[in-house]
Amino acid sequence: MADQKKFLLNETDIPKRWYNVQADLDVPLAPALHPGTGQPAGPDDFAPLFPMDLIMQEVSQDRWIDIPEPVRDVYRIWRPTPLFRATGLEKALGTPAKIFYKYEGGSPAGSHKPNTAVAQAYYNSIAGTKRISTETGAGQWGSALSFACQQFGIEAKVFMVRASFDQKPYRKSMMQTWGGTVTASPSDETNAGRTILEGDPESPGSLGIAISEAVEVAAGDADTKYSLGSVLNHVLMHQTVIGQEAMQQMEMAGGLPDMVIGCAGGGSNLAGIAFPFVPEKLAGRDIRFIAVEPAAAPSLTKGKFAYDFGDAIGMTPLLKMHTLGHTFVPNPIHAGGLRYHGMAPLVSAMADAGLIEARSYNQTECFDAAVLFASTEGIIPAPEPTHALKAAIDEALICKETGEEKSILFHLCGHGHLDLSAYDNYFSGNMVDYALPPEEIAAAMESVPQI
Ligand SMILES: *Cc1c(COP(=O)(O)O)cnc(C)c1O
Repeated sequence: MADQKKFLLNETDIPKRWYNVQADLDVPLAPALHPGTGQPAGPDDFAPLFPMDLIMQEVSQDRWIDIPEPVRDVYRIWRPTPLFRATGLEKALGTPAKIFYKYEGGSPAGSHKPNTAVAQAYYNSIAGTKRISTETGAGQWGSALSFACQQFGIEAKVFMVRASFDQKPYRKSMMQTWGGTVTASPSDETNAGRTILEGDPESPGSLGIAISEAVEVAAGDADTKYSLGSVLNHVLMHQTVIGQEAMQQMEMAGGLPDMVIGCAGGGSNLAGIAFPFVPEKLAGRDIRFIAVEPAAAPSLTKGKFAYDFGDAIGMTPLLKMHTLGHTFVPNPIHAGGLRYHGMAPLVSAMADAGLIEARSYNQTECFDAAVLFASTEGIIPAPEPTHALKAAIDEALICKETGEEKSILFHLCGHGHLDLSAYDNYFSGNMVDYALPPEEIAAAMESVPQI
């Protein structure tokens, strides 16, 4: 009989708790620092921006946190998600390795992001929030949050980077379909936006500017809160439903994997698939965790583990993380979700402790991998997870050399149906690789505060 292709769970298997890896780390995380005073920021400092339940999750040391039933109810729309064995890819590579992938592309927004968007919208709804403001680059986060807010009767106000607003109208249409209000950033609705527009009426915007606008709107209105789609501890924790399901599915497929691989932009999809396996590793099992980033934004592989701001302007609390400097402007690679100057403090601390390894690739080799994957497995990956895919293929090819039958699990965290212009670019031969040169890294690093 042919090898089993996919491993499916029932709705009753949707995890009932999120896993908080903070409880299992030897060294406590360095606290966030207040941007003005440089002192550790307390819950009250965050209260204007986030509901208290989420602030408490951010600092919680509890190993497990119950998932509220209304959140699991919405998860039921697309969870549990399938785990596949990449039998076609294995055959094409001629590897003795077993390659598995967990696929989050079946969510309404087409990525893993609704796992946290739904949780955040729920906690805001029970706290009486009327509106959530946020920023979005290419639109993945804005669409996930618009969907989630609509489920709980909250208005979503999304500041979308002007360049993407003009170039990527379809994600804007998704947000509008789910009732979100989309504003091109910089806008004339905020002081931050007006200041930028006075200097440059044609400004294409940036994620840093859009964050400033969204934070300003939330800080200035008691009924509005702010929301972030990655980086923070509670966001990473919400994503652990992915890895908990994957553990059950890997057991069905014959046992725990030898390695777990995810792409890393802010760190949330990697954390989601990998963190639930951490207790196994700490108990002595030989499992490797591999974070894969673009050579154009190599925060884990080339950045410094230091306190830095989360936004470009320096309004947010300082987080201790791997950073390329908050003024770093990445090249316009297609994996828009991986173009962030920093990395989640939890992923950063675990990389620093040697629990997570990191590597980087150029985008063209990732698209080579993506086209091979689509031709063997059918699914067209989003540009971001092609980085994880490329690492999985490289590891499978090492197994081909050594003859080892390792089990490789990678995270296919989204489909690429709204990224086909990137594929066009690849097929027309216009795709350019941008490995960040050492002198540019050094220059960007100058903006890291001396703390
Ligand atoms: C946003 C996004 C990412 C990057 O964010 P992480 O927090 O690193 O997961 C990766 N892949 C997809 C499909 C995304 O939408």
